Amino acid sequence: MTQVKTPTEILAMRESGRMLAEVLSVVRRETVPGISTKQLSDIAVKELKSLGGKPAFLGFQGFPDVICISINEEVVHGIPRTSRIIQDGDIVSLDFGVDYNGMITDSALSLIAGKVRDPRDAELVTNTEKSLDAGIKVLHDGVQIGDIGAAVEGILSAHHYGIIRDLVGHGVGHQLHEDPNIPNFGTKGTGMHLNKNMTIAIEPMATLGSHHVYIADDGWTVITEDGSRSAHFEHTVLITEKDAEVLTKR
Ligand code: MG
Ligand code: MG
Repeated sequence: MTQVKTPTEILAMRESGRMLAEVLSVVRRETVPGISTKQLSDIAVKELKSLGGKPAFLGFQGFPDVICISINEEVVHGIPRTSRIIQDGDIVSLDFGVDYNGMITDSALSLIAGKVRDPRDAELVTNTEKSLDAGIKVLHDGVQIGDIGAAVEGILSAHHYGIIRDLVGHGVGHQLHEDPNIPNFGTKGTGMHLNKNMTIAIEPMATLGSHHVYIADDGWTVITEDGSRSAHFEHTVLITEKDAEVLTKR
């Protein structure tokens, strides 16, 4: 399936992305110490329903919820639970997907709930978002996948963070995960060329330790092997002639 989207598909993705940004903004506001991750999921369900979109994650490869909520050493794919209560100083990563008229967008953010426990946590969150911005900044018609990886890696490695390698960004639109893969590391001037009207998700995942991860017994949650804390930011973007349009801009 081609990654180049038609004007009609792009209109639907713009709408899908707008809904996603709105839901994530509401859930982010409610992410405070004492709330359970399941309660946050319920808020996402309610918000998206009122906007008229459908959740894109529910049932994807069997995922049991509408949103991934991953805390501290959990990097991504955390499953919301009534027993999982947000604590003061937790790094909480919210990853959400919306399907509107068959067109999907995907976006994530990390935040610190309540009071910052360690200044390095706050720096990790800030710098991981910066690395996403750096990856978006290099986009234009004809950009190479290695250009994106190099830009993201440049920011993260300057801070000596672990850069998750087992999980990567991806094409998105008709499906949640389309070709090609967009790694968060790479060499400028290498890799496949991407063209205008392609839609991709760029999603750096960084840790305060090593990049090694494992999957928890629940079959989903991706956790750092060394227990180090992590952050995750993601936007769905439309590549244009000279730059890119962020479809999930908050
Ligand atoms: Mg995502
Ligand atoms: Mg994604």
